[in-house]
Amino acid sequence: MSALPSMSGHHAAGAEAYDVVVVGAGFAGMYMLHRLRGQGLKVRVYEQGGDVGGTWYWNRYPGARCDVESMQYSYSFSDELQQEWNWSERYAPQSEILRYVNHVADRFNLRPDIQLSIRVDRAVFAESTNTWSVTTSDGKTVTTNFVVLATGCLSNARVPDIKGLPDFKGQVYHTGHWPHEPVDFTGLRVGVIGTGSSAIQSVPVIAEQARHLTVFQRTANFSIPARNAELTSEEREAFRKNYPEIRRFAREESRNGIYAELPDRGALDDGDNARRAKYEQRWTKGGLTFMLAYNNLILDKAANDSAAGFVREKIAEIVRDPETAKRLQPEDHPIGSKRICVDTEYYATFNRPNVTLVDIKSDSVEEILPNAVRTRSKDHEIDALVLATGFDAMTGSVARIELRGREGRTLNQKWVEGPKTYLGLMSEGFPNLFIITGPGSPSVLSNMIVSIEQHVDWITEAIAFMRERGLETMEASREAEDRWVAHVNEVAHATLYPQANSWYMGANIPGKPRIFMPYIGGVGVYRRTCTEVAANGYEGFVMSAAERAQKMAVSS
Ligand SMILES: Cc1cc2nc3c(=O)[nH]c(=O)nc-3n(C[C@H](O)[C@H](O)[C@H](O)COP(=O)(O)OP(=O)(O)OC[C@H]3O[C@@H](n4cnc5c(N)ncnc54)[C@H](O)[C@@H]3O)c2cc1C
Repeated sequence: MSALPSMSGHHAAGAEAYDVVVVGAGFAGMYMLHRLRGQGLKVRVYEQGGDVGGTWYWNRYPGARCDVESMQYSYSFSDELQQEWNWSERYAPQSEILRYVNHVADRFNLRPDIQLSIRVDRAVFAESTNTWSVTTSDGKTVTTNFVVLATGCLSNARVPDIKGLPDFKGQVYHTGHWPHEPVDFTGLRVGVIGTGSSAIQSVPVIAEQARHLTVFQRTANFSIPARNAELTSEEREAFRKNYPEIRRFAREESRNGIYAELPDRGALDDGDNARRAKYEQRWTKGGLTFMLAYNNLILDKAANDSAAGFVREKIAEIVRDPETAKRLQPEDHPIGSKRICVDTEYYATFNRPNVTLVDIKSDSVEEILPNAVRTRSKDHEIDALVLATGFDAMTGSVARIELRGREGRTLNQKWVEGPKTYLGLMSEGFPNLFIITGPGSPSVLSNMIVSIEQHVDWITEAIAFMRERGLETMEASREAEDRWVAHVNEVAHATLYPQANSWYMGANIPGKPRIFMPYIGGVGVYRRTCTEVAANGYEGFVMSAAERAQKMAVSS
């Protein structure tokens, strides 16, 4: 425990007072709690779900699993933990990841400070006391010096506004809000709307059970085979032995938080045969690292076309009906400019006699009838409907909280034209409010656990720095924020990413501003920037000491 006094001396009388309130108990909120408690701080975590785990608590759809290998998609902060946990498969299923998260909660005794089934509705900053008042769904208000939003980038499920949806007489499921009890589709005609990552994982599994499956596709996505398999103990041991280097590389050198062999050349530096052999090798290995075949796939359109063409050919080879194959071949965006998917038998599923693909770009969904999805040309009869329609990504869960900073201004007012942050960590006008993996940081473009750990460590150190100096508020300066927002945009526009209508751009949400939200500069580069900012006395942040705090600093 720290010898420093708790920071909670300024709070209004009556309300429960904390040093830090953390919103969300997924990977981010849990590790944040662990680190802050280690500093001797009084912390309260609120989680609206009935248990810990975030993404892995909510996304229980058939086929749900991670697409970064589990030996890497796991916490690195405790060597004992990473040495003792036995991942069973290359990509663990949701149930196993949830078991792991629960194990972490118990092993580090996190539960006593986590309040479940409670939503944070509102947080208001009081300039007179430099504290936040946080109001929760049970009607209580507590005060706190700091608020950390660990609310998740993909946690606000998007339900599309389709005419007639409430009148559908069968069950409607959202992949991001799946029931806890098993769902049995045996004998049913099932419709799946959406063909992003969740659909690509669930479609092959649902197809095995359902009498008939109709997949409604607006945009075809590129998907690479996962080549999932059981992990052998030798494979696990190899990782465990090399963890120091694997984790160091992922944090410091990689672009995406994944330890992988990096390409040494561009796609057009190789001749046709060599290039094809390289793509073939990556395709056979499987997984997200397909995009690491060459170092310019996301920068150069001609290079990108060569990789996209290769995957389109693979789709044509796998899918027997040429019309269906054509529809499954993405033509409207560069490969990798939308989140690339990883699948098990997705394309082959369309060879099954009980699976139909409907292109709703040309034959749009008009309405949902009590027993069918009506597209312009026809009624597709179904008994159950699965919405694999994704999330209001990156800002959706933050926007649902009424956050009032200086002068009573809300964050939603400030972000009306798109999110503005400094380093993705703080937004000017909102002192002592941190966001984990916020817009303007690598977040969803990375192995998110690497990015989460980096943010949590950085925030922990910033708070410790303030406590040691008796500082009370920390806030992004307008100038630093403007510079960072411009930089994030500039880097994004030097790539092919903005060419796709993706959720990185907010393009899946009607009316959402089109701003490229994550930072593309790379995990290693970004981390160095954050470390330097801290080493230079938190350059670009304004830290101030209240009178009481200054006295405390002087006397200690
Ligand atoms: C199906 C799926 C597969 C994924 N696979 C990968 C992968 O392989 N690799 C990868 O890097 N990333 C993956 N991701 C991204 C994943 O979201 C992150 O890896 C990680 O789990 C995020 O953790 P988090 O704690 O930041 O957020 P979350 O896990 O989303 O947790 C946030 C929590 O905050 C809670 N919350 C939000 N608002 C409030 C509020 N107002 N009050 C109280 N509680 C609130 C939510 O209920 C949620 O439980 C995947 C995402 C999905 C949906």
